[in-house]
Amino acid sequence: MRRFDYDLVTIGAGSGGVRATRLAGGYGARTAIVEQSRVGGTCVIRGCVPKKLLVYAAHFADDFEDALGYGWRFDMPPEVDWGMLIERKNGELDRLEGVYKRILRDNHVELIDGTGRVADAHTVEIDGRSVTAERILVATGSWPAMPDIPGIEHVMSSNEALDLTELPNRLVIVGGGYIAVEFAGIYNAVGVEVTQVIRAANILRGFDEDVRTCLAGEMEKKGVRIRREAVVRSIEQTNEGYTVMLDHGDVIAADRILYATGRAPNTRGLGLEAAGVELNQVGAVAVDVDSRSSVESIFAIGDCTDRVNLTPVAIAEGRAFAETQFNANPIKMDYGNIPSAVFSQPPVGSVGLSEAAARRLGPVDIYVSRFRPMKHTLSGRDEMAVMKLVVERETDRVLGCHMVGADAPEIVQGLAIALKCGATKAQFDATIGIHPTAAEEFVTMRERRPDPEEESQV
Ligand code: FAD
Ligand code: NDP
Repeated sequence: MRRFDYDLVTIGAGSGGVRATRLAGGYGARTAIVEQSRVGGTCVIRGCVPKKLLVYAAHFADDFEDALGYGWRFDMPPEVDWGMLIERKNGELDRLEGVYKRILRDNHVELIDGTGRVADAHTVEIDGRSVTAERILVATGSWPAMPDIPGIEHVMSSNEALDLTELPNRLVIVGGGYIAVEFAGIYNAVGVEVTQVIRAANILRGFDEDVRTCLAGEMEKKGVRIRREAVVRSIEQTNEGYTVMLDHGDVIAADRILYATGRAPNTRGLGLEAAGVELNQVGAVAVDVDSRSSVESIFAIGDCTDRVNLTPVAIAEGRAFAETQFNANPIKMDYGNIPSAVFSQPPVGSVGLSEAAARRLGPVDIYVSRFRPMKHTLSGRDEMAVMKLVVERETDRVLGCHMVGADAPEIVQGLAIALKCGATKAQFDATIGIHPTAAEEFVTMRERRPDPEEESQV
């Protein structure tokens, strides 16, 4: 007699949930996945994929301008049909959702439409119906978090910003993280007047200082206004749109306002605490190295655990869970040297420690190259690229690689392998460059940046 309806029931068919459940299904487990919205989750439906398609669209603005320097002639300025772009983007998301559904079917995963909640250690309730499972996987992701200020009901999150059918004239973006910076780049490139309001002195807290300074400068050159050390106190609707009131009495007029002030784990109303599942101080599911919660049969992966909130991490956690629990192939996640990118204009690629983080561990050598990319000799564009290596002085090991410039995410993905292998600066230097590329700069940096601490001792 089978004790449970399923071996595994997953709540949330996003990046992590789909990977874990389809692998478990493929290994012969009886599986179901509960989804309240669209299959694919944040990344496919309202995150990475639609965002990247809009980033591609935005890049054409620079490409058209740059082409003039290479002898191309056409009517300037070209116009974007934004409505058509959104329609085509949505068509691609429909196609991808279909692919995800097919993958689930092919791996014998039952898709249950509805909102799931955990009733007890082995029971999931979906809109009044109960199913039992030997193991439950919570993969419910995260949702935009916003401060509770007067007028906050007038703002949109990235969810809506990906679906605007008409372009506003003036957009205010609040926040200085990944989403704010990426959307500032997209909307600025298609002609929207963008003002970004950040409470800190610079964008992208946690990234290397050279990256932050370079990118902020390039964004400002392209026309994004960055209001630093400014806090929004309230928002008012006016006849023409909205007024954003800042702390020192300043006001900004806007047609739309985007809040990108972080995301919170989707754990509310899931019945987790009543079932004995511990949440941490930010409401994320507290899990061990095997993604197991405080209840033995309940596991959690992805953004709802607030470890590293990136798609490839959610997918890797899902795989580790499925391999460990359903394929007798225990895998532990390794959170070291996870690369990431900001798809800004120009983009950022980064892996390993920032200079500041590395200095906290011991003496480092810093190599920085700041240059005008070859493409812009003829295009005439006033755009700089920065590449940086952070090297542990004692061991010569490269601890961090950072880049702002065209193709930075593509370039840094390869460098992430080198860091995973523990590559030294000498090994970078022994690598022959590919010429002419920007990437070759990473293997030809010979000049150590003068160390401010050493200089002060002289
Ligand atoms: P999700 O993909 O969010 O999936 C969770 C699913 O659970 C959702 O489908 C939701 O509807 C469902 N759900 C929630 N509660 C319930 C319930 N009670 N019952 C049933 N279903 C439920 N990461 C990158 O690596 N690269 C990027 O370029 C990138 N860009 C991003 C851009 C944006 C605008 C955003 C918002 C995020 C971006 N991310 C990016 C982050 C990435 O999307 C997330 O880290 C990733 O999707 C997390 O996967 P997940 O499986 O944890 O959750
Ligand atoms: P982030 O955590 O990256 O940034 C949040 C920003 O909002 C910070 O600049 C923070 O300021 C600011 N902020 C927080 N609270 C307030 C407040 N009350 N008032 C004003 N400003 C505030 O979050 P995002 O929303 O940009 O993105 C969420 C996550 O999604 C990312 O952290 C990342 O994990 C993932 N993501 C990844 C992408 C990628 O890989 N390319 C793209 C998009 C999202 P401060 O710096 O002062 O703390």
